[in-house]
Order: sequence, then structure tokens, then C-alpha cells
Amino acid sequence: MQVETGVSLKPYNTFGLPAVARTLVRIAGDADVRRVVDHPELGRAPKFILGGGSNIVLTKDMPQVVLKVEVRGMRLVEERADAWIVEVGAGENWHDVVAWTLAMGRPGLENMALIPGTAGAAPVQNIGAYGIELKDRFESLDAVDLVTGRSVTLGPSICAFGYRDSVFKHSLLNRSVITRVRLRLPKPWQPVLGYLDIARRMHETGVAAPSPQQVFDWVVAIRRAKLPDPAAIGNAGSFFKNPVVTPEQCRDIIGRDPEIVHYPLPDGSIKLAAGWMIDACGWKGKSVGQAGVYEKQALVLVNRGGAIGSEVMTLARAIQESVYGRFGIRLEPEPVVV
Ligand SMILES: Cc1cc2nc3c(=O)[nH]c(=O)nc-3n(C[C@H](O)[C@H](O)[C@H](O)COP(=O)(O)OP(=O)(O)OC[C@H]3O[C@@H](n4cnc5c(N)ncnc54)[C@H](O)[C@@H]3O)c2cc1C
Repeated sequence: MQVETGVSLKPYNTFGLPAVARTLVRIAGDADVRRVVDHPELGRAPKFILGGGSNIVLTKDMPQVVLKVEVRGMRLVEERADAWIVEVGAGENWHDVVAWTLAMGRPGLENMALIPGTAGAAPVQNIGAYGIELKDRFESLDAVDLVTGRSVTLGPSICAFGYRDSVFKHSLLNRSVITRVRLRLPKPWQPVLGYLDIARRMHETGVAAPSPQQVFDWVVAIRRAKLPDPAAIGNAGSFFKNPVVTPEQCRDIIGRDPEIVHYPLPDGSIKLAAGWMIDACGWKGKSVGQAGVYEKQALVLVNRGGAIGSEVMTLARAIQESVYGRFGIRLEPEPVVV
């Protein structure tokens, strides 16, 4: 267990927001979490669990003990008739995990290529992209309880996955440190090609039956064209969740705004494109201080250089108010505001 004090978190969050952790502990395995729990001072202090910092907005210095999860390892643990099971350390970079499974000839994660952050955070908000969510490939995870110090293995039902949601955003928030994640890669591989951007690539390239590597390459190229690279422009990806409404609510909005981009969901509800609504309210390219709305995608808030967390949140609240004023919809932030 490595304990550091007065650590700048600026390099540890993709928004590049300034904040200092009074205490930061690097976690390399379950035993490190137990050492924190048993420690006379650290054990009693409030905790914040940090992965790659790509889904957080830091608004102030952190008096909590920051547990930076750096558990390593990727291995194939089981081959079943219908799937491969792989286990990855929570501190592994998610995109590296996707690339590794593909290089091993065990595809299934390619639609989620290039999502920033760690494997351990992937279940926290049930990451998803281009028609696949983590829950579709999830087998189980190991976590250590920050009160009892006990290690547990949790399956999908306890994780309570929802749209960008899980139990780790609610009752287990900063209570359970995820240390390992097991993923189920179904056999035979079935491509997931339903998303418009992917269908467009198929049309452009004339490839009707792409290989897993082709889907991976398309997803990487699509994302690079659409989303700002956090290494160049600080951001946390989509800043708001796409709101889900009833068909009646949707009809009401279409009555006033016929162009609104919306997608029917399997359960009959309708997902509205938050980015479209923000754009319709005229926010694309606008700024508050050094926090701004990305020019190419209104759903992404960016750090134009030297932004602080309160500027990001002032901008976010102003967007929420104007979207509510025009559409009657309250946008909910996707990143965790600390
Ligand atoms: C450019 C960009 C594009 C993105 N695109 C997508 C996308 O397509 N789809 C998508 O779903 N997300 C996307 N995101 C959001 C982000 O990549 C994911 O939410 C990612 O899973 C966050 O991982 P992290 O390690 O950075 O987590 P962090 O930001 O460090 O933490 C996020 C939350 O998870 C908790 N947490 C982290 N690690 C653990 C752990 N080991 N145990 C328990 N709790 C933990 C933290 O306490 C915090 O509450 C994008 C972000 C960026 C910057």
C-alpha cells in the first residue's frame, strides 16, 4: 500500500480540473484495501474511489482518502461451449482490454473500443456504445467492502445495471472497491451493427459482413472524428444522460419540436437525444469562463484551458435551465460531481 499526501489530481482527471487530494492511496490488490480498512486513521475517514478520472467533475479539493485503483492483470479464466470468460484487473485501461481480447481472437467488446477509463469503473455506470453495454458482456466482479474489509463476488442481479447506472452509483457508492471484473464473450461471435454510424461505414466500404477487427477500426475512427481527445482538450465525454420519456411525453414534444431526434426503446419508452436538445437551445460552441460546449458535439462539455470545476457546473446548470425551459425535460449529468 502506497500512501501519498497533498497530491494534485489534475493529471488524474480527463477534464484537467484542479483539485488536491489530502491523502491518496494506490491500491494494487484486495490486501491493500483491507490495509486501508484496518488502518487506525485511514480506516475511519471517508473515501473516494478513483479509476482513470474520465467520468468525474472535480469542484473542490478532496478531504476524503482517495483510493486510486491500480489492480493489474488480464487472463482467460474459462472456455465454455457458448462463451469465453476473461478476468481483468480493475486498474487495467478499458481500451487495452478490448484490444487484448481481440488480439487473442476472442471478440465481443469491439463496439466499446476507445471508451476511456479503467475496467473497474466499467460496471459502475454500465458503460455502453454503439449498441452494446457492459451488462451484455458481464459475468461477475470481485469487490472489497470498505467497512468490513470483506471480499465478495457479485453477479449481474446484485449489480442492478441500468442505462449508465448500477448499484455502485447508489448504495455501494464509495463503499465497495471493485478489484477484478470478469467478462463473458459469447461464441459464436455475432456482430452488432444496428447503429447508424456503423451502418453508414458498411455502406461506404461495401463490407456487408465485417470482421471483429473491422468493427473495432470503424468504432475507433468514428469516435476519433466525433469526440475530443482528452489528451488535447479536457472533457468527460457525454456530460448529460439522454433522457428517457413516455410515448405521450414524446408526442407532446414532437408537437412543438417536430425535428427532435428520438429513438424508441424495446420497453416502449423513448430515448431523446440530449445533444440535439442542447444544440437546439443554441449552446454549441458557447462558454462560461474557460468551460465550453464542444463545437462538434453539444453533449460534450470541454475545458478550454485552465477551467475550474465550478465553471463547468455553472455552464451545466445554465444548459439544464434552458433545456427545461424549452422542452420541459430536466437533463441529468452523467459524470460524478465531486
Ligand atoms: C472522451 C470520452 C468519451 C467517453 N465515452 C463514453 C461512452 O461512449 N460510453 C460510456 O459509457 N462512457 C463514456 N465515457 C465516460 C467514461 O469513459 C466511463 O464512465 C468510464 O467507465 C470511467 O472510467 P474511469 O476509470 O475513468 O472512472 P472514474 O472517472 O475514475 O470514476 C467514475 C466513477 O466510478 C467510480 N469508480 C472508479 N473505479 C472504481 C472501482 N474500481 N470500484 C468502485 N468504484 C469505482 C468512481 O468513484 C466514480 O464514481 C467517456 C469519457 C470520455 C472522457
